[in-house]
Amino acid sequence: MKKKLVFATNNAHKLEEIASILGDKIELLSLKDIHCQADIPETSDTLEGNAIQKAEYIHQHYGMDCFADDTGLEVEALNGAPGIYSARYAGEGHDSEANMKKLLENMQDKENRKAQFRTAICLIMDGETHLFEGIVKGEIIKEKKGGAGFGYDPIFVPEGYDLTFAELGNDIKNTISHRAKAVEKLCSFLNK
Ligand code: IMP
Repeated sequence: MKKKLVFATNNAHKLEEIASILGDKIELLSLKDIHCQADIPETSDTLEGNAIQKAEYIHQHYGMDCFADDTGLEVEALNGAPGIYSARYAGEGHDSEANMKKLLENMQDKENRKAQFRTAICLIMDGETHLFEGIVKGEIIKEKKGGAGFGYDPIFVPEGYDLTFAELGNDIKNTISHRAKAVEKLCSFLNK
């Protein structure tokens, strides 16, 4: 019988990405598949803490093996901000345009443009907790460029490239991104 594993998300793109790497050895279930409509708490002050909190919630309430992720953009000159607040940097509206505007304003006088995207994944399997991390380093440019992707993609240029994530497009981004790296580590662990 296939092993069932819950991914604490309803984001269809994330589910599809991971399901395609895992192949058919594992049956991947979303929150919707397990009829979870709860607003799962995410109150930690670290990405790892939030991923653990979400995975533990599912494990405790549904008794199933599961994993959860959390991602943030960490800007060196802003002491790691927006970090865990990346989605709601400019307010609860989760508005990417407003978030980028605020970030560019806060960086107006900063010469150091270094930043990284970091993803933490927490897996709870057979009663054990495992953490996986993916990082992509780069820099924040001064104005938006490109139309692909989401979030802060138009202002982030990954190391080794001259184009933003939004200009590079998803095919390239998905091979070098923070999420891709964390997911690769998770999948190679699960496929062992
Ligand atoms: P989540 O934990 O994957 O929901 O990500 C939290 C927030 O970080 C998102 O709402 C985006 O603002 C930002 N973010 C995460 N991943 C990316 C990315 O690949 N590109 C741009 N922004 C991202």
